[in-house]
Amino acid sequence: MKYYVITYGCQMNKSDSERIAYLLEKKGYKPSLNEKRADLIVINMCSVRQVAVDRAYGRISSLKDKRIILTGCVLKQDREKLKNKVEIVDFNNLFKTKAKVKYPQGFIPIMEGCDNFCTYCVVPFTRGRERYRQKNEIIKEAKGLIKKGIKEITLLGQNIASYPSFPLLLKEIDKIKGDFQVFFLTSHPKDFSDELIKAIKESEKIKRFIHLPVQSGSNEILKKMNRRYTKEQYLRLIGKIRKEITDIEISTDAIVGFPGESKKQFKETVDLFKKAKFDNAYISSYSPRPGTAASKMEDDVALKEKEKRAETLRKLI
Ligand code: SF4
Repeated sequence: MKYYVITYGCQMNKSDSERIAYLLEKKGYKPSLNEKRADLIVINMCSVRQVAVDRAYGRISSLKDKRIILTGCVLKQDREKLKNKVEIVDFNNLFKTKAKVKYPQGFIPIMEGCDNFCTYCVVPFTRGRERYRQKNEIIKEAKGLIKKGIKEITLLGQNIASYPSFPLLLKEIDKIKGDFQVFFLTSHPKDFSDELIKAIKESEKIKRFIHLPVQSGSNEILKKMNRRYTKEQYLRLIGKIRKEITDIEISTDAIVGFPGESKKQFKETVDLFKKAKFDNAYISSYSPRPGTAASKMEDDVALKEKEKRAETLRKLI
């Protein structure tokens, strides 16, 4: 029997897919290079953007003759719609399972879920509240990967900087002997502490790279998004990071066309981008996600205007 895994969305889903592959192979399944030749298809879904949901629906309909397991971030309404077409499986505690690692990169989830409830985001609903892995379990997995020759370890968590004593965990991983680098994703600006900056600065193996989603440069929009920082606080934070770690690269995420975002408020984001001088940015046009607080607000920025704003920001990178 052969299996094929289709993954949508973030690195966390990629990590989960590696762990699902390990579980399937333990049950005797063999990997298939082609979904058409597979007996079992696993679709690891992402509901963060509608476009990813639409793609998953498209795959389900084109593979309708196959046995399909649907997992990952699946919204309640999609569970209802799809329950007669696919088997919906919630793999619990996947981070306790080994992974089928793809060299040279190894993912280590250190936490799952999120307590922040940004008003546009489905993660607290699909992934639940924050749960943390034991530090010794994480260190053991890191040592195991390094022993296998993994050169890039990415620590994962939807809200990774809120992991208890995260700077200490980084310091311990940094002390492990071997030739490797450590990345971590994704940090919320409000949790990015001075201790964390110091831990990166003093480390040998932590990559000089931070992904720090800003989402908007307008304080009114940030408030409506429930991001819990201001434009000024964000700019101060990245100023401090750059002063302490001079060779740091910073990337970000931004959402354009959030409900009620006026041209003036968008200009605040343009201004922030000009000041922040990001090394990279992932820009998305707002789309309402069912069940979130923002989905109850009027989605009043026209699609064309959202695309124009997204293009304006992309040109600033
Ligand atoms: S911090 Fe990230 S994962 Fe958590 S609710 Fe906000 S956007 Fe979603």
